[in-house]
Amino acid sequence: DRILDEGQTAHEEQFEMSLRPELLTQYIGQGALKSNLKVFIEAAKIRKEALDHVILYGPPGLGKTTLSNIIANEMNVNIRTTTGPAVERAGDLAAILSSLEAGDVLFIDEIHRLPRAVEEILYSAMEDFFIDVVIGKGEEARSIRIDLPPFTLVGATTRFGSLSAPLRDRFGVQLRLEYYDTESLITIVNRTADIFEVAIDDDSAVELARRSRGTPRIANRLLRRVRDFSIVKDEQSISLETTNHALKVLEVDPEGLDPTDHRIMQTIINTYGGGPVGLETVAVSIGEEVITLLDVYEPYLIQRGFLERTPRGRKATTKSYEYFEGKRQSDLFS
Ligand code: ATP
Repeated sequence: DRILDEGQTAHEEQFEMSLRPELLTQYIGQGALKSNLKVFIEAAKIRKEALDHVILYGPPGLGKTTLSNIIANEMNVNIRTTTGPAVERAGDLAAILSSLEAGDVLFIDEIHRLPRAVEEILYSAMEDFFIDVVIGKGEEARSIRIDLPPFTLVGATTRFGSLSAPLRDRFGVQLRLEYYDTESLITIVNRTADIFEVAIDDDSAVELARRSRGTPRIANRLLRRVRDFSIVKDEQSISLETTNHALKVLEVDPEGLDPTDHRIMQTIINTYGGGPVGLETVAVSIGEEVITLLDVYEPYLIQRGFLERTPRGRKATTKSYEYFEGKRQSDLFS
C-alpha cells in the first residue's frame, strides 16, 4: 500500500477515471507538449486524415493514458486500448487492427513490452496500413494480405530507450512528458478537490503539490488520503496541520521522498562511499526490483539533483550528502 505502488485497486482506478480531463484545454501543465500536439491535431483535421502515430514517454503517472484519450476525443474518433504484455500473439494484434475504423486511435500502454513477433506486425501496419497474416501450417501455409483503414497508433512507455529502432522511427510524433511544476500540481490538487467537493486550505494545496514528486497521480492519491485524516478531525477545510501530520504518517518526507528513496541514497552514501555503484547492486542491497528503481525512483532522484548517473554507475551528489547524511528516518517519518 505504498504511495508509489504501480498496482491499483478497482476502486482507485474508478477514482482516477473520474478525474481524467477529456479535452486538451482541461489538461493542466505540459505546456510545450500541449501546444505542439494541438497543431498536429488541427492539421490532421484540416487534411481530413488520421493523426500521425504518436509515442508518449516519461515516468509513470504523468498522464499518458489521459493524453491518449484526449487525442481520440479531440480527433472525434474511437479509441481501443490495450497493453504490451496483454497482446501475446501476432494473431491477437491482427484481430485488434482489423477491427479498427478509419481514423481510430489504438492505444498500446507499455508498448516496450510487446513481444518481438507481435511488434513486427506493427511495422507494415503503421507504415502502409496493411498486415500479412500467415494462415495454415507447414506446406499448406500461405500468407494473405489484409488492408487496414488509416489509424493512429498511440504508444506509451516509461522507457523510450527500450524501443527497437524500427518501431521508434515509425512514430511521427514523439512527445516526452516532464515532471509537473508545483504551480501545475497546485491547480491539479484544487481541481480534484473541486470534483470531490472537498474544501482545502491554500497552504495545504501548496504542500501537497510540493510533495507529490511532480506527478499528478501521486498528488491525487495523497489528497485522497489526507482528506480522510481531515474528515476524522471534522475539519471544514483540509488544514496545513492535518496535511503535514498525514504526510508524515504516510511516510512522505518534506521533499516528497519515501523510505525507499532514503534506503537507496543511504546505501549509496554509507555502504558504497557515495558511489559510483551499479544500480543492480543497489537493488540487491535494498531488496527492490531493478526495474522499479529504473522507472520509478531513479528519474525523480536525478531530476531533484540527489543522484547522478555516470558511465561507471550511480553517484550521490553534494546536495544528497547534505540532505541524507546522518539523517535518521525517524526524524522525517512517523
Ligand atoms: P501510466 O504511465 O502509469 O499509465 P499515466 O501517465 O498514463 O500513467 P494517467 O493515468 O493518465 O497517468 O494519469 C494519472 C492521474 O492523474 C489521472 O487520474 C489523471 O486524471 C491525472 N492527470 C494526469 N495528468 C493530468 C493533467 N495534466 N491534468 C489533470 N489531471 C491529470
